[in-house]
Amino acid sequence: MSNKQVCAFLGDDASPEVMQPTIDIIEDMQLGIDFHYPAVGADAKSTTGSLFPEQSKQAIDAADATFFGSTSGNSTAALFYLRWGKQTFANVRPSQWLPGYASPMANPENIDFVIVRENLEDLYLGLEGDLEDLAALNYYSRHARANLADLGPGKYAIKTITERGSERVIRHSFELARQRGQKRKVTVTCKYNMLSTADGLFLDTAKKVAEDYPDIDFEHFIVDDFLCRMIAHPEDLDVVVTPNLYGDILSDGAAGMIGGLGLAASGCYGTDYAYFESAHGTAPDIAGQNIINPTATMLSAAMMLDYLDMQEAALRLRQALGSVYSEGRILPRDQGGTASTTEFCAAVRALL
Ligand code: ATP
Repeated sequence: MSNKQVCAFLGDDASPEVMQPTIDIIEDMQLGIDFHYPAVGADAKSTTGSLFPEQSKQAIDAADATFFGSTSGNSTAALFYLRWGKQTFANVRPSQWLPGYASPMANPENIDFVIVRENLEDLYLGLEGDLEDLAALNYYSRHARANLADLGPGKYAIKTITERGSERVIRHSFELARQRGQKRKVTVTCKYNMLSTADGLFLDTAKKVAEDYPDIDFEHFIVDDFLCRMIAHPEDLDVVVTPNLYGDILSDGAAGMIGGLGLAASGCYGTDYAYFESAHGTAPDIAGQNIINPTATMLSAAMMLDYLDMQEAALRLRQALGSVYSEGRILPRDQGGTASTTEFCAAVRALL
């Protein structure tokens, strides 16, 4: 069998401190994965004149998947290509509590759900500008009972929800609920009362898709009500699907419920490509201190191994992480321990 090809971007600030040891661990497992490190950002600019040269794009195209370290700017062009270029529309963010995780919840034992965040639309197209540029459109707000032009100087940002974009991420969520085989439930959440046209379309699309999955329960809640329910009864949830911005916010909240961003894995899936990146950012405030928690990155790597059809290796990696936490001797700082990033990675490595 030929080796799998993976592009890796180590990322900025504290990201390389978790990306490199995770790659080292996977290399140690000898799974038949070749890692490639395409040039990007300032380094690429100095050698090729471009922040994201054509060869790097081709390397992403040629790979089976990409393992991406969070960026604060250096590899943003690569990230945008991974999203919109590769059409990775479903950002899957699991939150499962494991013994040893420092959850602030009284009873975190049954927290095991996934937020699927639409990854390409909503407010994240970056369509922003001056309100006065829209004045000619004569928009009338029936809520404010005023014309846009009457609001005075300011800015706008456009939120888009499309039929195609909604359908594919919702379908992905129903398939995921089947595959997980747990509570077999999909929960849709957005603000379909206030945004009855845009979020209303997301909900209506979900209702239609649900008809194709009679074996999966379907429910929907307005996003503010949902957040209250998520905190009060997380054990009721299985797969939650939501437009981009709500998903971004809710998934950080879900991570907080199991013990914080250091535990928050994520994978972004399209029809024929996927990339994997922790849900947290570059943690610039702790960069260079060797204290960043690598768990989110390792769990994202496990999602990547699943995607590469290496389920047994993914399970081994998850089990090694789970054992280090349940033993509780070597825990990262954000989980109440005193271990450095290096010590924690060594403990996981020792169990593989
Ligand atoms: P982004 O907007 O890209 O999500 P951000 O600036 O909002 O990034 P993060 O980089 O995710 O935020 O960091 C938020 C806080 O969480 C910071 O205090 C950071 O140190 C902490 N944090 C994030 N990831 C980890 C981690 N893996 N281990 C420990 N602390 C972390």
